[in-house]
Amino acid sequence: MSETRKDTSCDLFVIGAGSGGVRAARVAASLGAKVIIAENLYLGGTCVNVGCVPKKLYVYGSEFGKAFGDAAGFGWTVNESSLDWATLRDNKTREISRLNSIYNGLLETSGAQVIHGTATLVDPKTVEVNGSYYRADKILLATGSWPTVPDFPGNELSITSNEIFDLDTFPSRLLVVGGGYIATEFAGIFNGLGSQVTQLYRGDLFMRGFDDDIRRFAADEISKTGVDLRFNANIARLEQAADGLLATLTDGSTVTVDTVLCATGRHPNIDSLNLGCTQVSLSAQGTIEIDPNYQTKEPSIFALGDMTGGLQLTPVAIAEAMAFAYEQFSDTPKPVDYNMIPTAVFSQPNIGTVGLTEAEARAKGLSLQIFKSEFKPMKHTLSGRNERTLMKLIVDAETDRVVGLHMVGPDAGEICQGMAVAMKAGATKQHFDDTIGIHPTAAEEFVTMRTPAA
Ligand code: FAD
Ligand code: NDP
Repeated sequence: MSETRKDTSCDLFVIGAGSGGVRAARVAASLGAKVIIAENLYLGGTCVNVGCVPKKLYVYGSEFGKAFGDAAGFGWTVNESSLDWATLRDNKTREISRLNSIYNGLLETSGAQVIHGTATLVDPKTVEVNGSYYRADKILLATGSWPTVPDFPGNELSITSNEIFDLDTFPSRLLVVGGGYIATEFAGIFNGLGSQVTQLYRGDLFMRGFDDDIRRFAADEISKTGVDLRFNANIARLEQAADGLLATLTDGSTVTVDTVLCATGRHPNIDSLNLGCTQVSLSAQGTIEIDPNYQTKEPSIFALGDMTGGLQLTPVAIAEAMAFAYEQFSDTPKPVDYNMIPTAVFSQPNIGTVGLTEAEARAKGLSLQIFKSEFKPMKHTLSGRNERTLMKLIVDAETDRVVGLHMVGPDAGEICQGMAVAMKAGATKQHFDDTIGIHPTAAEEFVTMRTPAA
């Protein structure tokens, strides 16, 4: 340290006020630690600003068009409807600003000091922000991830999920590249809002990592909604043309659109950190290597959330943050149990999942009983919409434990959250059979499946 420099000292310096950083700072401060947290973009991080929250608001917005169509079968006359994109976008922005101030308030109330600026490591125990220096006993890296854009000519003309929320003009024609969570959710959102959407996935079947029956069923259902979902297809080149953006695909065909969204994965957001002055090490995929207590190879530096290469989900980052804070600043550790983490894709219809896919269960050598139920949701008997639902249970025949539960259909996220509690508690198929259904619901199908699929 230079002789004239006066460093502010603290017990914990958190870099990044997103899902993980905010929770770690608040819990550590509540446990008595002197905490400083720095954020260089937006309080609440990806989830609140350009992720889960605005995405879900747009999902809600995009469902009205279908609901207006459904209403006729129930006797309603819906007069001409149209979308005002600017209203949706600006109302979303107002709500996000409200959440930003709530996050600021939560941090300040907890006793953590919030600094707005880019934090850079100076040495393993010193951080610099806005020209000031902070000496910390422990430093937590919680800087999340950033969209990865594939390398193709003209890729600078494409956008990512960071930009799509705030487009000046509504894209009447949208090309979505990718077949994961973000691509599939945004294809559904803009299709529902009225865009003509083409979605490209480079492989045979999108949503890799999900159960194969679910992937196939979701592909059929999403195609039925009007998304032009193309497999074994990718973008090769993008150019500005007179009537829009001209995308040339790998098979030589072309599509002209207003906007191209690359939703092709995310990488750790570490460029500004100056990790070179530490012993923090990276995996082959570029993620921060940590031990089970989130400690990096540099003993004073910890990392969690998206940047560490685990499941990139907000509740996971939050759980890790609490585990980190309790481990470091209390005598009561609260480690994360990574088993049976439920997840949902807010595609239209939703995909919900807990536990193993059928392929994963078979790879474990389990002897399985598979239960499936496919049906038309009751609402669509009158609406006339041709949407169908699929539910699937994977049961370990030896122990009767339900090891996987999957669904494509309305509210799959809501339904699977409840089912996850049962699965976490070790529910058997007998427990499901013994549970009385709530009638009439879609969820009751999960407790009334009696005959294993062939
Ligand atoms: P982040 O929340 O990204 O926080 C990192 C913060 O660090 C950012 O605010 C960043 O600005 C800041 N930062 C970076 N570098 C510095 C620096 N040098 N100095 C100061 N600050 C810095 N997850 C779900 O569970 N459900 C969903 O529905 C869902 N939807 C999503 C939709 C989209 C479009 C996206 C992109 C993600 C979605 N996610 C969802 C994933 C979820 O947002 C992330 O898993 C979660 O935000 C990760 O939290 P984090 O704390 O690791 O990082
Ligand atoms: P995903 O990993 O889910 O999907 C990335 C997609 O892009 C895959 O289909 C992948 O194909 C494809 N891809 C990768 N590289 C290329 C390339 N060079 N050319 C063409 N296609 C490519 O990442 P996302 O960006 O969709 O989302 C990031 C993470 O954010 C998710 O994994 C999820 O954890 C989180 N998230 C969670 C949500 C939720 O909980 N509802 C919603 C949104 C995001 P392939 O499969 O062949 O590798």
